[in-house]
Amino acid sequence: MMKKGLYVTATPIGNLGDISARAKETLEKVSYVACEDTRVTRKLFSLLGIGQDKTFITYEDHSEEERAQKMIDLIRDKDAAVALVSDAGSPLISDPGYKLVHKCREQNIPVYVLPGCCAVISALQLSGLPTNRFMFAGFVPNRQKARGDLFDELSKVNTTLVFYETAPRLLKTLAAAAEVFCGREMAVAREMTKMFEECVNGSAEELMAHFTKNPPKGEMVLMVSPPLAKNQENIDVNGVLKELMEKMPLKSAVSEVVKAYGLNRNDVYRQAVKMKNES
Ligand code: SAM
Repeated sequence: MMKKGLYVTATPIGNLGDISARAKETLEKVSYVACEDTRVTRKLFSLLGIGQDKTFITYEDHSEEERAQKMIDLIRDKDAAVALVSDAGSPLISDPGYKLVHKCREQNIPVYVLPGCCAVISALQLSGLPTNRFMFAGFVPNRQKARGDLFDELSKVNTTLVFYETAPRLLKTLAAAAEVFCGREMAVAREMTKMFEECVNGSAEELMAHFTKNPPKGEMVLMVSPPLAKNQENIDVNGVLKELMEKMPLKSAVSEVVKAYGLNRNDVYRQAVKMKNES
């Protein structure tokens, strides 16, 4: 008999062998499973040899509030054990669940976590990019303006950046990244834990060349290493720009500075134009 509560349970992101013994035992024993898509979860249970003599309930954060409240009522009034799973990986990480967990906390409903696969963490581990500080920014926006604005904003953040991305959008995203993350090492971790797992490291331009030659397929995570200059406040960017602009055209001077210090191209360009107009 399981203790009543919500069991936030990670499932594999490709290789079925990655399910934990505790997750498997929990999924066997719970009476209810809250999932994104009952067909996907039933198939996973069948592949893992987990019995399906339980109630599967679809849950999304956009679902009506009542759906979340219904699960909470089951736990409170019927002493139910409810597992929360997503189609793959860790629930709540670019997947539904945080509203349900938040509601449970508000109403003093026990929540347990069963950790396991998470594409963000596996991608960082594969890439070799700095992991002491990182920022996960979810999926790269599809719209050009939103993508550009987000990249601009994040280019100033002094950590490794991690994004979820899809194959059809990768090349467009890399082209946008080349504008902003100049000179910064990037990596694409693809099909992790599956047969064609790979991680390709390089500049945005190098990655574009690679994925133009080898069209991207499957699931992927995009990462960007931190800005090259650890302490940008201490760099005399204006001084370096001024010196370079005396020797070469403005655009080339901007490119040199962007490459050397991993700064945002738009910011450096604006500063160069301002300096030119003032001189
Ligand atoms: N919650 C999940 C987790 O913990 O990893 C992620 C769910 S999110 C809806 C799906 C995205 O995760 C994919 O589009 C891809 O960016 C990434 N992803 C999931 N599995 C992956 C894999 N095996 N290899 C590379 N990326 C993966």
